[in-house]
Amino acid sequence: MTVKAETWPPQTEQVSDLVARLQQIVGSHHVIANAQDMAAYLSEPRDLFIGKALCVVLPGTTLEVAAVLKLCFETSVSIVPQGGNTGLVGGQIPDATGRQILLSLRRMTKLREIDLSSNTMIVEAGMTLAKVQEEAHAVERLFPLSLASEGSCTIGGNLATNAGGTAVLAYGNARDLVLGLEVVLADGRILHNLSKLKKDNTGYDLKHIFMGSEGTLGIITAACLKLFPMLASIETAFVGLASPQKAIDLLALVQRNAGDKLKTFELIPRIGLDFVLAHSEGPRDPLAQKHQWYVLIELGSQQLEGLRDSFLSLLESASEKAILEDASIATSLVQRQAFWALRERLSDVQKLEGGSIKHDVSVPISAIPAFLEEVETALQKAMPGARLCAFGHVGDGNIHCNVSQPLSADMAVDKARFLARWDEVNEIVHAIVIKYHGSISAEHGIGVLKRNLLVEVKDPVALAVMRAVKQALDPAGILNPGKVL
Ligand SMILES: Cc1cc2nc3c(=O)[nH]c(=O)nc-3n(C[C@H](O)[C@H](O)[C@H](O)COP(=O)(O)OP(=O)(O)OC[C@H]3O[C@@H](n4cnc5c(N)ncnc54)[C@H](O)[C@@H]3O)c2cc1C
Repeated sequence: MTVKAETWPPQTEQVSDLVARLQQIVGSHHVIANAQDMAAYLSEPRDLFIGKALCVVLPGTTLEVAAVLKLCFETSVSIVPQGGNTGLVGGQIPDATGRQILLSLRRMTKLREIDLSSNTMIVEAGMTLAKVQEEAHAVERLFPLSLASEGSCTIGGNLATNAGGTAVLAYGNARDLVLGLEVVLADGRILHNLSKLKKDNTGYDLKHIFMGSEGTLGIITAACLKLFPMLASIETAFVGLASPQKAIDLLALVQRNAGDKLKTFELIPRIGLDFVLAHSEGPRDPLAQKHQWYVLIELGSQQLEGLRDSFLSLLESASEKAILEDASIATSLVQRQAFWALRERLSDVQKLEGGSIKHDVSVPISAIPAFLEEVETALQKAMPGARLCAFGHVGDGNIHCNVSQPLSADMAVDKARFLARWDEVNEIVHAIVIKYHGSISAEHGIGVLKRNLLVEVKDPVALAVMRAVKQALDPAGILNPGKVL
């Protein structure tokens, strides 16, 4: 049976034939075809993207994934891969046609191997990031990728989006933590590349083509991940300072003195802290006075002793140089968690302040202060009272440059008016990003959300190369069509 686009919609018997063949491959319990049971897969938690699907298929093995893809290739049916469904750009949600199959990797959760001498671990794509971290911890190793969504997102999704998070500064993005991949190609062939090798210069490094491709070039079914030594001591400080420039000065000082002990350096604006304190029970202002800006710094060491003392003297030196205004190092695990909660709640609380227009951007670290100043000036000109809540992984140049609606007497009514200006606000922020040679998507990807924008900002030759790669690996265009390119 071939369900070609021009013969769409297929006859009912064609669809039921396809579903029956999928059931033969993965077992009848693992194909969901009724609307009610499919619903949880067809929208993401923020309900910004809602789609339809022919059915949801949950394979349990790589061979089953391969058989599903072969069938889809032969019948020209499109596939949308999905892991934990936490993506923020709509890449994991099918379109509204109801013609696509959603392929969920959630059943593929096996730990295939741990090799302590090689410091590697082979896991299947559907294992959650939190479980990957736990498995590493169980053998006294560290898998450092860390995101607020780690309880739900899967390692396959992390690699497909080349996720970032709070440990990039020390360990790199998701792609830096991988030695090999197993990938099912669009026609059902399996690319066996679960290499443990650090050194392998035998031509193109194919794994990097699939990481960050958001399910448009192949289905990642397993990965060989790098493991790191556990940290024997961790110290976490909450620091108050006057400006983003002071934060950059402090970053340079800490990098110079602490070297690779620096694990996290996160920027938090006062307005963000105010949002968290206003909308959460429990958290308190972490420092005695209010400051315009804060950074959350974490140092880690494989030595048990000495880290706290060296961190203290580092912060004292920063204070003497008038780089920071105040600082507190957590004295207990509870206090460390309280510091982190202030950072982690920043994304959630913005929606309690009315409409919020988001930007996940990066600029060179040295440009961050000027970038933020220009964004603030341009926003106030276009929309007086707009509240810029810019925070994030400043040590990676990655700012979540979010804009909350102005305060007003009727926030609910004004929210719609504010959100109607989403594109205009995006244009303001992205123009300044481009001016500073930054990126319009630092870590969340392109998906559907930024697909049109990509064409405007990406180098035309780079776009042509991307299209050539897509054409070579997915000539029928069945892998996550309408995403990225
Ligand atoms: C609260 C919260 C905090 C977040 N923080 C961060 C952060 O700090 N840094 C960051 O980078 N992201 C962050 N994200 C975004 C998201 O968690 C990441 O993009 C994550 O890597 C997605 O994993 P997932 O398993 O949920 O993938 P999904 O959302 O299911 O899919 C994401 C994309 O990958 C594709 N895909 C999924 N699995 C596979 C596979 N096995 N093979 C091929 N393609 C596949 C999908 O088609 C889709 O295009 C956050 C999200 C939330 C909700």
